Amino acid sequence: MEIQKKIQDIKKLIPDNVSLVAVSKTKPIEDLQEAYDAGQRIFGENKIQEMVEKYDALPKDIKWHMIGHLQSNKVKYMAHFVDLIHGIDRFKTLKEINKQAKKNNRIINCLLQAKIAKEETKFGLSFEEISSILESEEFAELQNINIVGFMGMATFTDDKNQLTEEFTALKNFFDALKSKHSNLEILSMGMSGDYELAIENGSTMIRVGSAIFGNRNYKP
Ligand SMILES: *Cc1c(COP(=O)(O)O)cnc(C)c1O
Repeated sequence: MEIQKKIQDIKKLIPDNVSLVAVSKTKPIEDLQEAYDAGQRIFGENKIQEMVEKYDALPKDIKWHMIGHLQSNKVKYMAHFVDLIHGIDRFKTLKEINKQAKKNNRIINCLLQAKIAKEETKFGLSFEEISSILESEEFAELQNINIVGFMGMATFTDDKNQLTEEFTALKNFFDALKSKHSNLEILSMGMSGDYELAIENGSTMIRVGSAIFGNRNYKP
């Protein structure tokens, strides 16, 4: 019941054009089933093996999003079903996804992860790196992936000015590239602590875990 209420509360706060990814990493199948019964259909996981186990156990109309940092050698385990891959920050990973998508006769939708946080530890590509990937001939040859947008993780801080600055920078970059690359339509920004601010600053997809499922016992 708790999970259902939290999903309903969040849905009331977000506009129709923003999708909610329920981040269910580390949580048991029963919790995901409860969210599913409340109408939730998009789930985000950060470990491929865990996502595969949950995919096998749960209804097949769920859209599975991989939001974690990817190990290329594991892409093959999810290539037949993954709906969207958020955290791509190397060209090499795109090549591997393309190869596995081709084997499965699919086109896999992907988001490039932009580095927007000032913290040193966060993964992600610079805006220049993203532009050069999208312009490159090597990229044009990858027929089985579709880059549909960008993903960003802001600094872990309560400083609203800093968060706004980071979200806005990615939104402006996204808008600038959208005019040249018509496939770009998704801007994945915002988590439990900052999704309202992310939406105010242009997010079209939020990734919310603890605000739905409660705190996780171990670190993501
Ligand atoms: C865990 C995780 C989230 C969700 O975090 P919460 O703060 O629990 O909402 C969102 N995005 C990514 C990439 C994550 O790894």
